Amino acid sequence: MSEREDDLEQQTIELHFQQAMHQTKKKAVLLTPNGECYNCDESIDHDQLFCDVDCRDDYEKRKRAESQRLY
Ligand SMILES: [Zn+2]
Repeated sequence: MSEREDDLEQQTIELHFQQAMHQTKKKAVLLTPNGECYNCDESIDHDQLFCDVDCRDDYEKRKRAESQRLY
């Protein structure tokens, strides 16, 4: 049946995933300022990503925890 194809598809997905993870690590946090804190959704200046350093740290910690949970 299509067992081999499924296997190949699975490998492709994993490859894409690894590439995405690699890019995420390389670029660190690549976010676009949207007028809201990425951590607590508070309204902030449009050139800011977070309302303060604590929120940035929280967000990065959460992101790191999320990416580790995938494995
Ligand atoms: Zn915030």
